[in-house]
Amino acid sequence: MESFAAHSQKGIMVVFSGPSGAGKNSIISSLIEADVNRVHSISLTTREPRPHEVNGVSYHFTTREHFETLIRHGDVLEYDEYCGSFYGTPREPVFQYLNEGKDVLLDLTVAGALQIREKCPDAILVFIMPPSIQELVSRLSTRGTESEDALAHRVETAKQELRMAVKFDYCVENAKLEDAVNDITAIMRAEKCRVSRLCIDGRLDKTV
Ligand code: 5GP
Repeated sequence: MESFAAHSQKGIMVVFSGPSGAGKNSIISSLIEADVNRVHSISLTTREPRPHEVNGVSYHFTTREHFETLIRHGDVLEYDEYCGSFYGTPREPVFQYLNEGKDVLLDLTVAGALQIREKCPDAILVFIMPPSIQELVSRLSTRGTESEDALAHRVETAKQELRMAVKFDYCVENAKLEDAVNDITAIMRAEKCRVSRLCIDGRLDKTV
């Protein structure tokens, strides 16, 4: 039997932004492991793959020419240039997943998140805050994926990004992964009960 109005039937779009090293990837992986109804939007990028990264899983790695063609054809929902490379969200899969009732999790730069806000006003924007700049630098150095120069560039970009947290719907500190994941799970549960989402689905009638 179909339930009355417990939850919206369409999936929700949750955008995570925050400085490189804030832990967005670990948070998204944990959220997806916990619920088969959640999917990660796999981005396009023109940056070089890192040794452990698999094409089509971590990213769709592509050339700048192909990226620009996709933009011209309107196949990219949002995009941004970050530390010399392009990153963008393929449009089609996002809406397909949402219509199938899946929650789509996106890991985007702040500029990318703000483009999503313009285009998809019911998306939820979550800023992931590292506990401190010192901790961020330590995480990025331990990761060991960046040269000295690239690391310094990421730290400088991080400082600018941190100031943008006020533009988001939620700000979650990632000092301990489990706590951050619990906070986001609570946010997602609450968002699914929003009356506005239930009205869009036709599960509640707003003409009373
Ligand atoms: P990384 O090179 O560390 O994988 O990612 C660098 C930055 O690009 C991260 O802050 C990440 O959030 C962002 N990013 C990844 N995919 C996308 C995307 O599709 N669009 C935008 N705007 N940013 C992205």
